Amino acid sequence: MRTTPVLLSVLILAGLPATAQTGSDSAANIKAHMAVLASEELKGREAGSPGYEAAADYVARQMKGLGLQPMGAGGSYFQTVPLVAARAKSEGKLSLKHPSSKETPLVFGKDYITGGDEVFPKLRMNAPLVFVGYGLVAPEKGRDDYKGLDVKGKIVVALSGAPKFLQTEERAYYRGGRAKLQAAKDRGAIGYLSVGTLTGEKLYPFANRVRQYKSWGMSWRQQDGTAFSQVRLPILAGISVAGAEKLFGAKTKDILAQAETDQGAVRGFDLNMSLSAAMESETRTLESRNIIGLLPGSDPKLKNEYIVLSAHLDHLGITPPVKGDKSGDTINNGALDNAAGVSTTLEVARLLKAKPPRRSMIFLVNTAEEKGLIGSEYFARNPPVPVTQIAGNVNLDMPILTYDFTDVVAFGADRSTIGPAVSRAAARMKVKLSPDPMPDEGVFTRSDHYRFVEQGIPAVFLMTGFANGGEKAFLHFMKTNYHKPSDDLKQPINYDAGAKFAKLNAEIARELGDAATAPQWNKGDFFAARFKQK
Ligand SMILES: [Zn+2]
Repeated sequence: MRTTPVLLSVLILAGLPATAQTGSDSAANIKAHMAVLASEELKGREAGSPGYEAAADYVARQMKGLGLQPMGAGGSYFQTVPLVAARAKSEGKLSLKHPSSKETPLVFGKDYITGGDEVFPKLRMNAPLVFVGYGLVAPEKGRDDYKGLDVKGKIVVALSGAPKFLQTEERAYYRGGRAKLQAAKDRGAIGYLSVGTLTGEKLYPFANRVRQYKSWGMSWRQQDGTAFSQVRLPILAGISVAGAEKLFGAKTKDILAQAETDQGAVRGFDLNMSLSAAMESETRTLESRNIIGLLPGSDPKLKNEYIVLSAHLDHLGITPPVKGDKSGDTINNGALDNAAGVSTTLEVARLLKAKPPRRSMIFLVNTAEEKGLIGSEYFARNPPVPVTQIAGNVNLDMPILTYDFTDVVAFGADRSTIGPAVSRAAARMKVKLSPDPMPDEGVFTRSDHYRFVEQGIPAVFLMTGFANGGEKAFLHFMKTNYHKPSDDLKQPINYDAGAKFAKLNAEIARELGDAATAPQWNKGDFFAARFKQK
């Protein structure tokens, strides 16, 4: 869909250099970009919406203005991403059947939540339930939560997340859908129910998920028109901590308490009941666009190696207002998530342009991150250059720019030579590289860089750190504004911190772009062992 002329003129006006109350060109540029991208006019930039399209046009114009070379189709900056979207058509119906007693219905919004499923739009299932603890299968840790359990032809019930003893990024891997669903599917399960934990619901309140249950989820369309899915196993519902009682009865308290322990060795068992489920999704096909610009490397040989700097442009669009919010605001502006990351990335391009690094830089501003890292997955599987020539990725998502950061976190830093490169670049700016301050969140698999990891490419996700007020700012944001309409420009955004973040990223790009050798996985790394292209 194209932008309407009226909207375009607003955008072009808004895109002119801002009258800066801030200290530097970079701060003013970032402020100007954010003013456009997080504006009400773009209505929350949901992938597939006119607001997203207008934002994409803005980014492409900026790339052109910066002199980046177009890397999309037919000499444009755009890579079309074919999508299938799905959302719950209704609240669905779930009930439990014990062998002796009659049916116990599960209550939508209290006991469970459902969502759209583009692969299984119409689900009818009636099968026995088997609880598998966390459903963790990690042979290298001597752990198999399925041991002694028969799930063939049954529905697996698993705690969401993964035990705390796992190293933070490996924990993120094991809590992610791919590993858990694959383990269930490999053992013959026909459906999957996820059960919340105390830690999980503290981070993501169930009520917030209920509010958004009708949001569109997405996947990309394959050549044959079907939706791509890493593991074809239907997820029937997410059960809340409150709803767990109906599954586990008197054992609930023990199970939830044990899930919180370091080992999280919650023993599974046959639940001795069956689940009857009827779920329906509405689906539609649509398209969105990644925006791709190239800064060619200055070295005749190394320019054939590419570093991808990425940031997602899409956000949640329009949702029902937050309960109790008197303003009734429904537009999710996504100012920090991730207008801030895109604006920083554009500014990094400007900073590098003056003296391009030896390797080539691809600036990827991608779509459908909020729909499941879909635009980046499409890019990583359909890159404009051979995937073996993509040497590394640095991703920016939701940098908290409301304070003057003095440290940064690079999720994945300990896995490849990108970590030391970030550390060197940061040291030049008197910024510290800190370890992951929130291993419970499983951040490593939750943003676009992970799609590069899955293609065997070393990658990090860079965020402002917890020092100098960062922890307070981050926790406040997560509690008050994350994925809510209030993630808007009324927040106290520190554009000088944005300028500093852009400069740091430019320094990191130089480290990676100018080094004698391309980024390498550390020897024997967990992710390299799983995904590295031979
Ligand atoms: Zn987000």
